[in-house]
Amino acid sequence: EMFGQLTSGLESAWNKLKGEEVLTKENIVEPMRDIRRALLEADVSLPVVRRFVQTVSEQAVGVGVIRGVRPDQQLVKIVNDELVKLMGGEVSELVFAKSPPTVILLAGLQGVGKTTVCAKLAFYLKKQGKSCMLIAGDVYRPAAIDQLSILGEQISVPVYKEGADQKPAEIAKRGLAEAKKKNIDVVIMDTAGRLQIDKGMMDELKDVKRVLNPTEVLLVVDAMTGQEAAALVTTFNLEIGITGAILTKLDGDSRGGAALSVKEVSGKPIKLVGRGERMEDLEPFYPDRMAGRILGMGDVLSFVEKAQEVMRQEDAEDLQKKIMSAKFDFNDFLKQTRMVARMGSMSRVIGMIPGMAKVTPAQVRDAEKSLKIMEGMIEAMTPEEREKPELLAESPARRKRVAQESGKTEQQVSQLVAQLFQMRVRMKNLLGVMESGGSIPALN
Ligand code: GDP
Repeated sequence: EMFGQLTSGLESAWNKLKGEEVLTKENIVEPMRDIRRALLEADVSLPVVRRFVQTVSEQAVGVGVIRGVRPDQQLVKIVNDELVKLMGGEVSELVFAKSPPTVILLAGLQGVGKTTVCAKLAFYLKKQGKSCMLIAGDVYRPAAIDQLSILGEQISVPVYKEGADQKPAEIAKRGLAEAKKKNIDVVIMDTAGRLQIDKGMMDELKDVKRVLNPTEVLLVVDAMTGQEAAALVTTFNLEIGITGAILTKLDGDSRGGAALSVKEVSGKPIKLVGRGERMEDLEPFYPDRMAGRILGMGDVLSFVEKAQEVMRQEDAEDLQKKIMSAKFDFNDFLKQTRMVARMGSMSRVIGMIPGMAKVTPAQVRDAEKSLKIMEGMIEAMTPEEREKPELLAESPARRKRVAQESGKTEQQVSQLVAQLFQMRVRMKNLLGVMESGGSIPALN
């Protein structure tokens, strides 16, 4: 099982939460320690692990209780979502040139599977209806050119090759010209690897890149090398500029460190993964599926998602009911206005009510300022006046008294009273339920 060790390492984290009612700062300490250990053992780089653990901890403590969902299930969901983000969130598609041919330059150290990937990628694109041509540019490893020719024959894709005594940049130039002549859609160039990074390899790649002006420069890295793979992606990107990585040998007993570190460490996405030696064993890298495989808890994830969805709906309906049923007196007004002032956190829920616009930070600040003024005036009202705003609407004398007691002008009090009635109407309008008699009375 892929990343089996990581999966079982994380499992012990969930197990520590069995029997708990909510996630707290205290009860996540042990599980977070397990998560940290599991990631480090999977060979995820330390800074990445630190950031990950911190983000998950913060979210775990802040997460609200969802009815019917256990804390361990909630933590699974949080970890899943953060794993997806860590791996780049969305799938990162191959980019194709506006006018063909699209040129894909492959780079990588020796033995990572670069030559195999060359053919696999052509096979993958051919299935999508694209015509491909391979350019054999690995003049460093004697057997590589023959190897590519054999693979090309297997998948019926033409291979452009020259003798091993030619310069890769020259081969690239002539190969590209050949592809253009043949109206090929995608040209994939294999290049020479080395056992480790050296200047000769980098210079060669720079030359080839200059000649080809490729749409994609993909570094092939071996999943077995863990966080070292992420470091390589970073280095190659700084040296020659790459567009992404291809992670090979995910079928082996790799621990997961490469898949989890590459994007976060290098800023470059993994675009494709190799999961075996056969030509069909190359596929796009889907962060969400990868996270799902690591956790091995698809059913828990979809259960928590459903529960969250239900809760969001109930939240919104709750608020809607409150607004609808409120007689909307000054007590409600105060509550409602205070809520608006807190809308930094409320805007999520408000945004879910159809017709209610999102609240901007400036609106929140304004609301806080005017809340202070309004509170003063509402405090000067009698309990009866607060419950029956009509009393204030009907009586200038009452408004005058409120103004005097709160140290505001009569005009300000009148405005507040008018505002309350406007708010009643506006809310009902927003919810699409116009009640009869919900009009704004003229103040006497
Ligand atoms: P290069 O030196 O980078 O060109 O590496 P090769 O393409 O020659 O591959 C080296 C070895 O790794 C070969 O035996 C391949 O069959 C093997 N290989 C490549 N990709 C994968 C993969 O995704 N999974 C497994 N299990 N083996 C792979």
